[in-house]
Amino acid sequence: MKIPNQKYPELYQWLTEFQEKTKFKRKIKLIYTNDKGVLGRTTALGNINLQKKFTERFMDSQPNVIKFILAHEFIHLIQEELFNLYRAILPKCYKPVVLFQELRANINGAALAGLSNEEFRETQILLWIYEGNMRKQLAYERGYPSRMQNIKFACKYNRYNDEAGYELLNDYYAGSSGPMKSIGPTKSF
Ligand SMILES: [Zn+2]
Repeated sequence: MKIPNQKYPELYQWLTEFQEKTKFKRKIKLIYTNDKGVLGRTTALGNINLQKKFTERFMDSQPNVIKFILAHEFIHLIQEELFNLYRAILPKCYKPVVLFQELRANINGAALAGLSNEEFRETQILLWIYEGNMRKQLAYERGYPSRMQNIKFACKYNRYNDEAGYELLNDYYAGSSGPMKSIGPTKSF
């Protein structure tokens, strides 16, 4: 179901604002989803889904949370990172790519939404609580940087760049039992 413009005109104003800033002209539909597993996502057809319950929870009281999620999804759209099966299944080899994409959508999304560091910090803390105080390792397992890392990275980097990506990847491998640690200790001979 399309998100009603009369109910949340701000959502559509933000979308127009993002399109003007990025000169991204294609028409984008905002559609509700009842899927509990997602707060927001891009669809295979290049539209944006927002979870209905989540949108209603924050839109009146803390709209910056929704503005950030909308901007995050918008960055995925302009980067052509649409919903696809690879991401849904998330094979191990694809994880670092997803981490990069998510970090970029967070850093550039915060900038696109025009949030100050303090406002961005507040959105991440509210999301962290809303998602059940998820720890970094659990976020990594799902292929995402944690909310606390988002704060750290967005304050340090004004826009996403390779340095930010590699800093995250180093931390990911340092703390995971993933591919870099899967090899046994080298025997001396
Ligand atoms: Zn994302």
